[in-house]
Amino acid sequence: MPETTRGCILTGDKQTAIEERKLRKVGPKDAVVKVDYCGICGSDLHAWSAGGAVYEYGTLMGHEATGTVEEAGPDVLGLKPGDRVAINGFTPCGQCVACRNGLANACLNNMIRTIGQTSVLDGAFADYIWLPDVDVTAVKMPDGLSSAEGAFTEPAATVVHAIRISRFQVGDTVAVVGAGPIGLLCISALQAAGAGQVIVSQSPGPRAELAMKFGASAVINPRDESNPVGEQIRGLTDGGADIVIECAGSPPALQQSIDMARPGGQVILVGVNEQPTPIIPTTLIFGEIDVKGSLAWDHKDFRIAVDFMASGQVDVKPLISDTIRLADIQKKGFERLKEDRSLIKVLVEP
Ligand SMILES: [Zn+2]
Ligand SMILES: [Zn+2]
Repeated sequence: MPETTRGCILTGDKQTAIEERKLRKVGPKDAVVKVDYCGICGSDLHAWSAGGAVYEYGTLMGHEATGTVEEAGPDVLGLKPGDRVAINGFTPCGQCVACRNGLANACLNNMIRTIGQTSVLDGAFADYIWLPDVDVTAVKMPDGLSSAEGAFTEPAATVVHAIRISRFQVGDTVAVVGAGPIGLLCISALQAAGAGQVIVSQSPGPRAELAMKFGASAVINPRDESNPVGEQIRGLTDGGADIVIECAGSPPALQQSIDMARPGGQVILVGVNEQPTPIIPTTLIFGEIDVKGSLAWDHKDFRIAVDFMASGQVDVKPLISDTIRLADIQKKGFERLKEDRSLIKVLVEP
């Protein structure tokens, strides 16, 4: 059993260091997992480039990970050493008002109880990770799913959750706003769920091309000022989308999303936008359109995501732009992702 691990620590603005950290002792329900892959998430990149954002300096980052159980405590029920797992690195407190109302995904204490986002629970840009309550914080992976693909479980579970909490029904027309990793996964998950048309709003370029490869029925251009997206989508559908899933998180995307919904339609917000964002309320009122936020996932979403990927219904392989070593994460990971928008997902292999 290793007592320490190398890990990538956020040390300052656009700065990281590979340092040695102590691994916690394995308690009755805990485990130490040897990391196989960990994806660099948009929120990691945001924290790296925006002065830490919601992360603290000193955080050992990384939360989209797979690994192999190295040691499990005596009270662990479903996992044993050697099992490959997808890490669901979030342990809701069970006591706050969100948890008490059945919204553990929105636990008010989630930042300090999520791996790789504060210095409380070290993340998976590391050789090893210690996981509390591992029957909850890891899901066994089926044989058919590679560990590299499994590293997409967290983003895939995010889109599964957005679809499951929406009013989506089989055959619905859905608009997906933004074709980054989340938007692209959303296209596949919607098809697995039985969507009718899936229309993607994305400006022309590599991401728009990928959206078509992922099976979008059409891609519309949100930057075309002579032809607003609302008009474009009404030209392709019966009065707009039944459901709009906003995966861009940019201020203009909010009004555009509302404009794309049909009367009585629903807009689901997945992309994280922290800016005050003006909208024209009558566009909601006249169409009785409702807007609902979607955060993270619950356990069932996480398992569905694993199953979608294992069955091939959600194929994440085209999203893997590169696989790099932990020692290269600063230059080949963060610095390159900041520069090159054609990269979708970079995986880190210790
Ligand atoms: Zn993430
Ligand atoms: Zn809670």
